[in-house]
Amino acid sequence: MTFATLGLIDPLLRTLDALDYRTPTPVQKEAIPAVLKGRDLLAAAQTGTGKTAAFALPLLQRLTMEGPRVTSNAVRALVLTPTRELAEQVQQSIQTYGQDLPLRSYAVYGGVSINPQMMALRKGIDVLVATPGRLLDLYRQNAVKFNQLQVLVLDEADRMLDLGFSQELDELFAALPKKRQTLLFSATFSDAIRQMAKELLRDPLSIEV
Ligand code: AMP
Repeated sequence: MTFATLGLIDPLLRTLDALDYRTPTPVQKEAIPAVLKGRDLLAAAQTGTGKTAAFALPLLQRLTMEGPRVTSNAVRALVLTPTRELAEQVQQSIQTYGQDLPLRSYAVYGGVSINPQMMALRKGIDVLVATPGRLLDLYRQNAVKFNQLQVLVLDEADRMLDLGFSQELDELFAALPKKRQTLLFSATFSDAIRQMAKELLRDPLSIEV
């Protein structure tokens, strides 16, 4: 099994080749074809399993193939992460995987000045990686619009709940279009995560690695 047989397009295959990614990891094998088809996903995956590429590669491909170009203050895909460090790391990966694609990605998180983030959002962003608190701030100040949102990714959903983001998440979810693709990644599955999955996902493919 190769990345080509999973259905990825040439610009992504060339980048993976340059990164020396030879074989898809188990979570990538299952997630990539399903996400490319537009399916929702519920994935039990720890860090180190290749989960970032498992959602980032098909996400980048869908955004490239489907258009339309993002308009001011809009985002087409949103990746929520529990911490600023993870947000930066995921954005770096998305930047790397998408280096040959005409897409803009950006990360927003708390603990730094909000103004540069507001400026960056003005042009519109294809893939926004965000921590929940700062994203809610930006949304309340009309710096970000969700009307063009096609895909929502929750990365390390259990840690977001552990860090007390549940209220912010509920407020954000209420602001998102109902018609979208949702991918939920979590290392553990508490009742709260199961409930969140029930509310957010439609007929998801469940993956455990
Ligand atoms: P993650 O689980 O997303 O944090 O990824 C763990 C590490 O594995 C990262 O450093 C990735 O660059 C690397 N990685 C992900 N997928 C592959 C792959 N198919 N082949 C080689 N390395 C990979």
